Amino acid sequence: MIIAGFEKNSLLDYPGKISSIIFTYGCNLRCRYCHNPELVIKPCKKKMIISEDTVINYLKKRKGLIDALVITGGEPTIQPDLIPFIKKIKELDILIKLDTNGVLDKKVEEIIRLDIVDYWAMDIKFPSEYGIDTQSIKRSVKMIMNSGKEYEFRTTYVKGLHAIEDARNVGKMIKGSKNYYIQNFRKGKTIDPTLNSSNSFTEKELEEIKEIITPYVKHVVIR
Ligand code: SF4
Repeated sequence: MIIAGFEKNSLLDYPGKISSIIFTYGCNLRCRYCHNPELVIKPCKKKMIISEDTVINYLKKRKGLIDALVITGGEPTIQPDLIPFIKKIKELDILIKLDTNGVLDKKVEEIIRLDIVDYWAMDIKFPSEYGIDTQSIKRSVKMIMNSGKEYEFRTTYVKGLHAIEDARNVGKMIKGSKNYYIQNFRKGKTIDPTLNSSNSFTEKELEEIKEIITPYVKHVVIR
């Protein structure tokens, strides 16, 4: 595992739990609005890397105080040794939340079969932006919905890249799901430095997106 970031304590990233967060290096997509360019397009410097043992030892020391480990990135599923790493964490009796873009559906399938993730958070992208296979994304969505685990889907909406009506395709893709979060683009450090505050939707536009998605999903939140 190439771990390039470690946040020791968070009350926000695993609903209702105290978690630690690791950020894996590298991604199989290049979202223009990605807020983690240092994990995606910048070279991975040796000094950024945190060993698996550092994370495991911290969790051991904080046993009973940290409930969960959130694995985010980058895209964690591209890490060849993700599964053995998760297994090591599960031995500590720690919950796992895994963030993914769902492109590597075979990896998602294997993890679900092994029953080692407790909470899935999948970003729903617009496949047309990347020329990626819609089928793999749809498969990941269905498998996560049927996994019996907690899950959420979410999309970052970027004005100028996404149209409000695009939300209907997202709704169809995740039809029947429990939780969906609409995330507005926020200006800041991004892969595409030309994106700025004009790429954020207004409150009213976000409500329109919510209205489009609501018939497909039980619980839709703008965050
Ligand atoms: S937003 Fe996520 S999927 Fe997109 S490039 Fe960044 S880490 Fe990869």
